[in-house]
Amino acid sequence: MNQKEELIVRIKDLAREKNAIILAHNYQVPEVQDIADLTGDSLALSIQASKTDAAMIIFCGVHFMAEAASIVCPDKKVIIPVEDAGCAMADMLTAEQLRGLKKEHPGAPVVTYVNSSAEVKAESDICCTSANAVQVVKWTGAREVIMTPDRNLAAWVRRHTDQVIHAWDGYCPIHDDLSVVELKKAMAEHPDAVVMAHPECTEQVLELADVVRSTSGMLDYAKSSSAEEFIVATENGLIHALEKENPGKRFFFASANMICKDMKKTGLPEILKALEDETPEVKVPEDIRIKAYRAVDRMLQVPRD
Ligand code: SF4
Repeated sequence: MNQKEELIVRIKDLAREKNAIILAHNYQVPEVQDIADLTGDSLALSIQASKTDAAMIIFCGVHFMAEAASIVCPDKKVIIPVEDAGCAMADMLTAEQLRGLKKEHPGAPVVTYVNSSAEVKAESDICCTSANAVQVVKWTGAREVIMTPDRNLAAWVRRHTDQVIHAWDGYCPIHDDLSVVELKKAMAEHPDAVVMAHPECTEQVLELADVVRSTSGMLDYAKSSSAEEFIVATENGLIHALEKENPGKRFFFASANMICKDMKKTGLPEILKALEDETPEVKVPEDIRIKAYRAVDRMLQVPRD
């Protein structure tokens, strides 16, 4: 057995012994995705984990995702293998800033993307994901809506509703940096490829896309599509799952620079250490958790189109 195989065996044994479930976001490095019990979008992972009898969650992702697991699974111990794995977009909005925004638009419900801190969720009326943001905003029935923290997701929603959207000026640097020039270059190199883009990309990039989807939406689309080539405009880690699930189909980066460094901090040694030490634990304080859960739970009541 080589070193990597030994690590995998030790992780699996320890996870079994401690009744731990390993969750990995679609942007994690391939070996982390491969060892996980569940892979997927951030909130979907926590919801799936809540339906298991695992006592512990090892969340391979970034901090707000581990917080979401703590919000949805209060009875489970949540461990993030790398404590400083954070999200630049979630860090762009504090609860205090959101309280200020609410004062500027009194009465407008706050729709908050799940890529946000627990405190920000707790200050919000309802959460949304990149897959259901349009439905959630329409469902509020409000003439004016505050959307946080992603300005690009808000712009995407604005295109699909006639409601007034007051957006916070946050963004994901990885998606926001993808330029029209880079995408056009990829399109010229692969003229037959379907362009799939994440709504965290800019409006100009989304204009060029054939389909705009969340990461799990891209996985579903690629599987059901008869196309054989795809350009993928999201964090490049998703290509691992796309290739694994679609042998024979070809996937190309929209840009080789779409890499989230925080998502790449977790490796197998970090997972083993997290299982051994059961730290660092992420536990959202109960008063915040209850309010944040209410915003998440409201979102789950929104009927799908
Ligand atoms: S890819 Fe963007 S939104 Fe996702 S964790 Fe990294 S910085 Fe945050």
